[in-house]
Amino acid sequence: FARLKAGLSRSTAKLTDAIGSVFLKRKLDDAALEELEEMLIGADLGVAAAGRIVEGFRRTKFGREVTDEEVKTALADEIAAILAPVARPLTIHAGHAPHVVLVVGVNGTGKTTTIAKLAEQYRAQGLKVWMVAGDTFRAAAVEQLQIWGERTGAHVVAPAKMGADAAGLAFDGLKGAKEAGIDVLLVDTAGRLHNKTALMEELRKVVRVLKRGDDAVPHTTLLVLDATTGQNAVSQVKVFKEMVDITGLVVTKLDGSAKGGVVVALAQEFGLPVHAVGVGEKAADMRPFEARDFARSLVG
Ligand code: GDP
Repeated sequence: FARLKAGLSRSTAKLTDAIGSVFLKRKLDDAALEELEEMLIGADLGVAAAGRIVEGFRRTKFGREVTDEEVKTALADEIAAILAPVARPLTIHAGHAPHVVLVVGVNGTGKTTTIAKLAEQYRAQGLKVWMVAGDTFRAAAVEQLQIWGERTGAHVVAPAKMGADAAGLAFDGLKGAKEAGIDVLLVDTAGRLHNKTALMEELRKVVRVLKRGDDAVPHTTLLVLDATTGQNAVSQVKVFKEMVDITGLVVTKLDGSAKGGVVVALAQEFGLPVHAVGVGEKAADMRPFEARDFARSLVG
């Protein structure tokens, strides 16, 4: 957690300074609460979560003199209460043979890296993992997944040529994985958000065609979000929820982010499980999402 803490400490430094200037030896009155709300919104927690937190302060501490430490503790508690219901590790059912995880998200958010991290994690648990290079129009994406395949030892199902049908590739991957007795099938997808309609059609087709192979798949549809994009991450959830049935989130780049607060906004607005967080570029750089630790790190 050292890295996560180091990363969050950047957003934290701001929050901590702000808390200091707002509350040090001050009465928790309307003006102070308003400043607190603005500070939380500025730290990307979103209007709804900021409002909820400030209401909590109003109920329990209004009109009292509060110390810096008291505010921090109460703030961490309020944030942890918002995060706790969404902090849920991803459960893989080996009985699904394979458990299919469809991974979606805008290009650059860290989809491919997240797939590699999941592959590494499940292989370390002794599970057999395959990855499908479903972003068939981006040569770099396919090559990158192949490099991760070599590093993690997970087999990569790659298109025979660029531009091959992603849905067909996913279908073949599922069929092959069933025959080979694979436990987890991780399916990469395209993320060209500049053409929303085309992307929606492509993702929906992948899901439709996978279901022809097995009606129960995908068992999990993960949306990968880059924490450094702040409130953009919130809009991306809205867009992708319209395209496919998102079952959970992975938030990446929390090692270098000054925007860790967006995770609170996501939890408050969507209530989708946050299965894991990315804290670096290597296959080992993924952590389970822990509400209390995260809240504490955010507040500093
Ligand atoms: P994709 O286009 O969504 O598949 O994104 P990639 O997996 O290719 O990642 C885009 C860039 O973000 C790459 O340079 C990754 O190394 C980097 N990246 C991904 N996850 C993380 C993370 O958790 N932390 C950091 N610092 N970089 C990350």
